[in-house]
Amino acid sequence: MNREVVYPGTFDPVTNGHLDIIKRALQMFDQITVAVVDKPGKNLLFTTRERIEMLQATAGKLSNVKIERFEGLLVDYLQQRNIFVILRGLRAVSDFEYEFQIALMNRKLYSNIESVFLMPSQEYTYLSSSLIKEVVRLGGKVEGLVPGVVEEALNKKFALTK
Ligand code: ADP
Repeated sequence: MNREVVYPGTFDPVTNGHLDIIKRALQMFDQITVAVVDKPGKNLLFTTRERIEMLQATAGKLSNVKIERFEGLLVDYLQQRNIFVILRGLRAVSDFEYEFQIALMNRKLYSNIESVFLMPSQEYTYLSSSLIKEVVRLGGKVEGLVPGVVEEALNKKFALTK
């Protein structure tokens, strides 16, 4: 059996927390598709193309990981690909309520779907893309929390917007 999973998210930008989840999932699944949400109007720092490029330069280097863009309903995307499992990361308790709601809604929309939650290494528990952006915007260092390419992209983006 080929066990495939979709890891959906905004990834604005990808952090070491996301990569930690992907590496853990590789021990359980044969193929991971990172599905990057392309939602116009969402207040994002990076374009869809930039978010995909950063993922390709990091997670995309791992075997059995592919990066794709997606829009619309996640369950439709899964159904089209014959994939039945959604992967999400769980950090603090605060993630739980939202994730629980989404997982049950997805199951209602497509009853074959299961959602799987993985917890990152403790050092990434308090890490989020928004916090990373805020720190870099204010001039802080995020070394060790995001891949090098992402750190560079963030510095460039904020230098341009200053
Ligand atoms: P979304 O807008 O869909 O929440 P994110 O890119 O913020 O997109 O997150 C995608 C997934 O990765 C979510 O399941 C989120 O909980 C998880 N995630 C984000 N940051 C971390 C982290 N530091 N450790 C573990 N999981 C994380």
